[in-house]
Amino acid sequence: MGLVTDQTALVTGGAAGIGRATALTFAVEGAKVVVSDVDDKGGAETVAKIEKAGGTAMYVSADVSKPDAVKTLIAKAVAAYGKIDCAVNNAGIEGKIMPFTDQPEDNFDAIIGVNLKGTYLCLQAEIAEMLKSGGGTIVNLASIAGLIGFPGLSPYVASKHGVIGLTKNAALEYAKEGIRVNAVCPGGIDTRMLDSLADQATSGAQSSAEMMNPLHPMGRIGTPQEVANLIVWLCSARAAFITGTAIPIDGGYVAQ
Ligand code: NAD
Repeated sequence: MGLVTDQTALVTGGAAGIGRATALTFAVEGAKVVVSDVDDKGGAETVAKIEKAGGTAMYVSADVSKPDAVKTLIAKAVAAYGKIDCAVNNAGIEGKIMPFTDQPEDNFDAIIGVNLKGTYLCLQAEIAEMLKSGGGTIVNLASIAGLIGFPGLSPYVASKHGVIGLTKNAALEYAKEGIRVNAVCPGGIDTRMLDSLADQATSGAQSSAEMMNPLHPMGRIGTPQEVANLIVWLCSARAAFITGTAIPIDGGYVAQ
């Protein structure tokens, strides 16, 4: 308890999955939380869960791929809570699994637009605010697909490799201004996104756990809470000397 007491945290894609678990964990650890998403119903549910547990949170609807929406999101967060100490750029989409040469341009554009450009737009706006308030910490959601390739997922893999590049550059450019920027690289995590990928890969024949458990050396996929624990710890003072990293949280997947 109390890893981020009295701090303000922003979580994009906070309506479900890893983002929801992260928003709830920030609140349990003492932060006021701005939950953002395009899924307004899910976002409101996350806020309700935080408030029911005694925490403080607000919801702001924003599509991270749209520059004006991101600017408005950051302005609303600062207007409500004064500053942004911790920001988690988590919103993401998986898109379609297809061989490289069959990938339609609109699938590439959509995935790059949300996962890579969305992270870029959020980083720009968050860093600008953190420079005004004297520093902060940012965690970007990359993936093991930011470290290695996955056949059929070329736009997603490209977007997540790009997120790690943005992470390194932002960390280097603002290390002296008190802003730490890191990426986390989850393996298979039990969320809607993994269900969608398993459905596409097996035409519904296998659940995400059936398909993905054996691929992980620990014999199981991870939970959103396990990723949330790493993210909130990275945002806390316990991780004060960590910046520019891309940390796998994958049950040993990329060690293979
Ligand atoms: P999820 O689909 O459960 O949640 C993603 C959230 O992002 C949803 O609430 C969705 O509405 C929101 N979102 C989508 N497009 C958006 C947009 N344009 N603007 C704002 N919000 C938007 O997925 P998840 O598994 O919780 O994924 C969270 C992050 O973790 C993603 O970046 C994903 O790529 C990454 N990740 C997931 C896994 C996994 O196995 N689940 C593994 C590695 C990385």
